[in-house]
Amino acid sequence: MALTQYKYMDIIHRCFRCGYCKFPLDWEDVDNCPSYARHRLESYSNGGRLWLIRAWITGEIPWSEHLADIVYSCVACKNCEEKCPLSFSDDIINMVTAARNLMVDQGLVPPAAKKYLENVQLHGNPWGLGAKKRDQWMADLSLEPYRDQEFLYFVGSEGAYDSRAQSAARALAGVLQKAGVSFGVLGNTETDDGNEAELLGEDGLVEVLAEKNIARFAEHGVKKIITLSPHAYNALKNIYPRHGGEFAVYHYTQVLADLVRAGKLAAPKLAPVKITYHDPCFLGRWNNEYKAPRKVLQSIGGVQLLEMGRNRKSAFCCGGGSGNYYMDLLGGSADSPARIRVRQASATGADVLAVACPNCLSMLEDAVKVEGLESKLMVKDISEIMYGTE
Ligand code: SF4
Ligand code: SF4
Repeated sequence: MALTQYKYMDIIHRCFRCGYCKFPLDWEDVDNCPSYARHRLESYSNGGRLWLIRAWITGEIPWSEHLADIVYSCVACKNCEEKCPLSFSDDIINMVTAARNLMVDQGLVPPAAKKYLENVQLHGNPWGLGAKKRDQWMADLSLEPYRDQEFLYFVGSEGAYDSRAQSAARALAGVLQKAGVSFGVLGNTETDDGNEAELLGEDGLVEVLAEKNIARFAEHGVKKIITLSPHAYNALKNIYPRHGGEFAVYHYTQVLADLVRAGKLAAPKLAPVKITYHDPCFLGRWNNEYKAPRKVLQSIGGVQLLEMGRNRKSAFCCGGGSGNYYMDLLGGSADSPARIRVRQASATGADVLAVACPNCLSMLEDAVKVEGLESKLMVKDISEIMYGTE
């Protein structure tokens, strides 16, 4: 694909680099873009990135590894789309993704992104682990394969393979069983959802993954799906319809909130505990779901819910989106997004940082260790809190 085929040439020049897209909604500081917060250089802000993309497309600058690093350092958190006042704001991430499409096409992506995409293509998960091990997370659980139950529980690559996320995957299965929800799983026949492959610019791979999962869902007559991950939720809800797959898709916090409201799930009673909640970008800004996770947390006895200053539409991203939980292009510094976020959480005085995303769970727990906050702040997925996982 030639550079002249760049899809957004007619609008990319409209960015005049005002820098508003780096702020949170209260205009407190210019640090709510994770890649800018990490580097403090305009080229890593959205405006700088769009100008560099335009200069590359028009031939004013050549491709370089540094340019590719800048283009791939956006973690697709959507803070910039919330804040940019111009009419093209809904297409900001599309403009970055379209530049990545060209880089993928010409073999110009950073090595970590290349490895991510190769692993997903060859093995159906970012770590390149055998597809036959996808069901290991549930080896000692008595879960039913999906047949004709009400819901399919779509676990996703992180829940299936990442050791920290596996705990959340198992806890959610336990909570659903406790509430008497009729559900089944696909085990080894599930494959990666493709959400990050889309953001990394590999459209061909997204098509293959979506078609594979959709065929599996159709074969079993699946109608309703619960996802552990907001990234999978986004893919199944917003990407799969473009590939012919229309299903009723729920993030698990939405299902749990409904069960609690209907009196079908008794929330646990805890000793008094202060909890702060981190909004995952793919549940919050991408899909506008801010209430369900808070309703679930508020239903738990003994919980005092404390909000970070940066919450809901202004939440600061953990830095794990767009495959960065695997690539870690923003790591290695006290200004890594996950480290900034756990300092924000700790400043509330909370004992627990609650998340509703397996990527956030791993990113933020690692950051708590690096920041030396282990004795003060525990990172837990809401599924674990609801199940009573120690
Ligand atoms: S993307 Fe919008 S808010 Fe950001 S610098 Fe450009 S015009 Fe300003
Ligand atoms: S999506 Fe997030 S990381 Fe990317 S430019 Fe916008 S604010 Fe920065």
